[in-house]
Amino acid sequence: MAELTPMMQQYFEIKNKNKDYILFYRLGDFYEMFFDDAKLVSRELELTLTGRDCGQGERAPMCGVPYHSAEGYIAKLVQKGYKIAICEQMEDPKKAKGLVKREIIRRVTPGTVVEASMLDENRNNFLGCVYAAGGSVGVCFADITTGSVYATGSDNWNDITSEFGRFAPREVLVGGGAISADGLQSFLKERLEALIEPMPEECFEAQRSAERIQEHFKVQDFDAAGLTDLPCTVQCLGGLLDYLEQTQKASLSSLNQLQVYHQGQYMELDLIARRNLELCETMRTKEKKGTLLWVLDRTRTAMGSRLIRQWIEKPLYNPLHIARRQQAVGALCDDVIARTALTDALKRVFDMERLIGRVAYGTANCRDLRALSAAISCLPEIKTQAALFGQAMLRELTGKIDLLEDIRALVEQAIVDEPPILLREGGMIRKGFNEEIDRLRDLASGGKGKIAEIEQAERERTGISKLKIGYNRVFGYYIEVSRSNAEAVPENYIRKQTLANSERYITEELKQLESTVLGAQERLTALEYEVFVSVRDQIAAEVHRVQKTAQAIAALDVLCALADVACDNNYVCPVVDFSDRIDIKDGRHPVVEKMLSDSLFIPNDTLLDSKENRVAIITGPNMAGKSTYMRQVALITIMAQIGSYVPASSAHIGVADRVFTRVGASDDLASGQSTFMVEMSEVADILRHATKSSLIILDEIGRGTSTYDGMSIARAVVEYVADKKRIGARALFATHYHELTVLEDLVKGVKNYNIAVKKRGDDITFLRKIVRGGADDSYGIEVAKLAGVPNPVIKRAKAVLADLESTMPKIELHAVAEEPEDVPQITIDSLSGDAVAERLRALQVDTMTPIEALNALYELKKLV
Ligand code: ADP
Repeated sequence: MAELTPMMQQYFEIKNKNKDYILFYRLGDFYEMFFDDAKLVSRELELTLTGRDCGQGERAPMCGVPYHSAEGYIAKLVQKGYKIAICEQMEDPKKAKGLVKREIIRRVTPGTVVEASMLDENRNNFLGCVYAAGGSVGVCFADITTGSVYATGSDNWNDITSEFGRFAPREVLVGGGAISADGLQSFLKERLEALIEPMPEECFEAQRSAERIQEHFKVQDFDAAGLTDLPCTVQCLGGLLDYLEQTQKASLSSLNQLQVYHQGQYMELDLIARRNLELCETMRTKEKKGTLLWVLDRTRTAMGSRLIRQWIEKPLYNPLHIARRQQAVGALCDDVIARTALTDALKRVFDMERLIGRVAYGTANCRDLRALSAAISCLPEIKTQAALFGQAMLRELTGKIDLLEDIRALVEQAIVDEPPILLREGGMIRKGFNEEIDRLRDLASGGKGKIAEIEQAERERTGISKLKIGYNRVFGYYIEVSRSNAEAVPENYIRKQTLANSERYITEELKQLESTVLGAQERLTALEYEVFVSVRDQIAAEVHRVQKTAQAIAALDVLCALADVACDNNYVCPVVDFSDRIDIKDGRHPVVEKMLSDSLFIPNDTLLDSKENRVAIITGPNMAGKSTYMRQVALITIMAQIGSYVPASSAHIGVADRVFTRVGASDDLASGQSTFMVEMSEVADILRHATKSSLIILDEIGRGTSTYDGMSIARAVVEYVADKKRIGARALFATHYHELTVLEDLVKGVKNYNIAVKKRGDDITFLRKIVRGGADDSYGIEVAKLAGVPNPVIKRAKAVLADLESTMPKIELHAVAEEPEDVPQITIDSLSGDAVAERLRALQVDTMTPIEALNALYELKKLV
C-alpha cells in the first residue's frame, strides 16, 4: 500500500469494501475503472484498455467512460448481470486541499435500477428476497421504482417457486435454509436468469427485522397486517430492508406500499400453468403477441400496463372482490362516450409512478420534474371524466385522485419550460423564483453583452475587421487576430498563444471582465443546483400522495382496457360465485379467435360440476381442436376471476382455487430430465395439490411411454381425479386412447365428448364442434394425408393398420370392482396378473415423490 500513490490508496480502500461490485471511480470528467474491473469492462463493453501510473512502478490497467454518458454503459453492465458501485467526488477538485474526498453514492444492481433507460416501462422490476427456517419459507418482492412491496409465506417450496415465477425478479437475496435449496437456486438461475445474492444470517435477525418493518412501513399492528403467523416473512422483509439500506444510499421513502397476501386470496397459478396457458408470454418465443395479455392489454399508460400484467398473473378468488371489478367494467361498457372521454384523458399521462420514484430516490433531473408536472396537469380532466360514473369502485378510485396542484405549481414556478438534461450546468431555474439566481444571471449575461461591446470597440480601434473574441477553458477569454494582421495590434495586447494562422491576445480589461463573468457563472450553476435539489426534496416529501394517485390512475386505466376489450370482442359478463359449476355457452378461445384471419372461430359449450360432470374425456383426431377447447375453458375461468368479461354468449363460473395444466411436450429436455419423467412429475404435483375447487386440464398424458403403460396411467389418473373422496376436481382430459371412453360407464362423474369431424372417403373435415360421446376413430391416417404425407405412404399405412387390426387382441377395460360409485379402484386385470393390481392398491399415490412414482412404475412394468 505504501508505495501506491495517495489516489490509488484511496481507490483500494473503497474497492476493498466493494469487492463484488465494479467500481466506477470518478476522476474529473470520467468514471475510471482499474485493474480487473478495467479488464472486465473493456472486454464486456469493447472499450479501450489504457493504463495509469499508480506508484508501483507498473501501470494499472485502466478504462473509462465520460461521466455524462455513464448511464448507458451502466445499463449494459447491469443487463449483463453485473453490479456497479458509483464512487463520486464529494468536493470540487479545484477547491480540494490535497486528495479529493470520494464516496460511494449508489450501488446499481439488476433489482435496484431506477433509471428509465434501463427499465421496461410495461413491466415491474422486482428485487426478490427469500428466507427459510424451521420448515417455513418467507418471500417478498419489492419494486423500488414504484414503491410496491409484496410479501407472503408458505411451507411449500412449490408455492414459493410459483411466486418467483409470477414476479420474475431480476435479482434475489437468499437467506437461511433458502441458501441450500438447490431446486430453487437452479430455478432462479436458469429459468429466471436472476442474479442471486446469498446473505448472512444476521441480516435476517428476527427482532431487528420486526423493528425495521415497524419503522419503515409504519406497521404498528402485525396482526392487522397479516404478519403474525408468518415469522419467516417478517425476517425476509427485514433482510430486504437491510440490503436496501446497505446498498442504496438514497432515501427509500418511496418504498412504502407493503401488501402482505395469503395463499387463498388469489387463484393459484403455478409456473407450468401460466406458461402452458400463455398468459403473458408465449411458450416458445416468449413474446407478448399471442397471449392473454396481448388480447386484454389496451391500457393507455405505463402504470396501467404494469398493473394489468399483475391482475392477469394474480386472478382473484373471492367472488365479492371479482364482482367489484366486473361492475366497474360494466359501468364503463354501458357508457361508450364517457369511457372514450376518460381514455382520451388517460392517454396523455406520463409514468407518474416511476417519475415520483426517481424524485424520492434523488435521481430525477429537471426534465423528470417537468414530465411529472405535465402528468399532473392531466389529472383534473381524468378526475372530471371519471366522476361521471356513479359505480362504487370507479367512485372510490376517482376519490383517490389527488390533483397535486401544489406540486405542479412548484415545478412551474421553479423550473424553466425546456430545461437541460444535465444538472450541473445551470439554465434550469425559472426567472423570478430565486432572487440571488436572477442577480447572478444578470451579472453573467451582462458580462457577456459587455464582451460583445469590447469586441466591437477593439475592431474599430485597431481597424482589424476580422478581430474576434473567443473563449477556451485554458486561457479564458482572448482576442484572436489573423497572422497577417498581427502587426497592427496595439501595445496593450499581451500575446498568449500562436496558432497556424492566427495569434491570440489578452488585455487587462478582458481579464477583469472575465473574472466577474466566470465567477458569477460558477456561483450561478452551483446555486441553481442547490435550489433544484431543494425543490426536488420538497416534492419527494409528497411521494405518498403521488403514488396513491398513480395507483388509482393505473386501476382506472386497466378497467377501461377491460371494458374496451369486452365491447369490441363481444364478451359477456360471467356470473361468478362459489358454486361448483363451470357452465359456458358458446365459449371461444380469446387468443385463437383473434389469430384466425381467414376462418371464423367455432364456439363451443362447456358444462362441468361436482356431480355428474366432473371429468370430461375428450377424444378426437389430432388437429381437431382439443387443446384449444381445453385452454379456452381455463382462460375463460381465469378471465372471469380477473374481473374481465369473457368470450361466450353466457357463462357461469364457480371460482377455481387453482388451475392446473399438463399440456403437450415440455421443453424441459435441456435440464436433463426425460420427457416422460417431466410429464409424470407434473402429474404427481397436480394429484397432490388439486382440490375439489380446482380446475385441471390434462392433455394426452401417458404419451411418453408404451401404449399399455400410458393407458394404465391415464386411466388411473382419471379415476383418481374423478373420485370425490380423493380429489373430485373439475377436469378436462384429452386423450388419444379411445379405450378410455368406457370410463363413462364405469366411473361416476365422467362424461365423454369428442370434437366432430366429417369423413368422406379418405378425406376428413374438421367441424371444430364439441359433441357428446367418444370419437369413433382416431383418423390418424386421414390427418397424415391432410398434412401432405405422400400417397404411397398413406396407402401402405392403411394396409399395415388393417393387418394389425385383424391380428391385435382387443383391449377391454373392466368396471371398477368395489363400490364403483365412490371408490373407483384401479383394475388392470385384463392386462396382467393380480400381482399388479395388488401392488397398485398398496401404493400411497398422494405421498409419493415423482422418483418413487417412476420406480413403482418400473416395478409394475416388470410384473406385467
Ligand atoms: P388438437 O389439440 O386436437 O391437436 P388444436 O387444439 O391444437 O388441436 O387445434 C388445431 C388448430 O385448429 C388450432 O391451431 C386452431 O387454429 C384450429 N381450431 C381449434 N379450435 C377451433 C375452433 N373452435 N374454431 C376454429 N378453429 C379452431
